[in-house]
Amino acid sequence: MIAANYTAHLYCDCEVCENSHRQEQAEFIGESWNQVATSARKQGWRISQDRTRCYAPGHKIKRTTKQ
Ligand SMILES: [Zn+2]
Repeated sequence: MIAANYTAHLYCDCEVCENSHRQEQAEFIGESWNQVATSARKQGWRISQDRTRCYAPGHKIKRTTKQ
């Protein structure tokens, strides 16, 4: 038996979570990044294209302001 798991821990990057001690988080397990990302998105998480940021369901996406 081969147990090949890919585990991703998502921590919400929205401003509210960033400033609180109770950051929204979730764990997703799959066989690949794509599978993990798909199940996360199904539950309402949003993941940035470069996989560096994610936002919990219903949380506000932070806008990066260029200065
Ligand atoms: Zn959040």
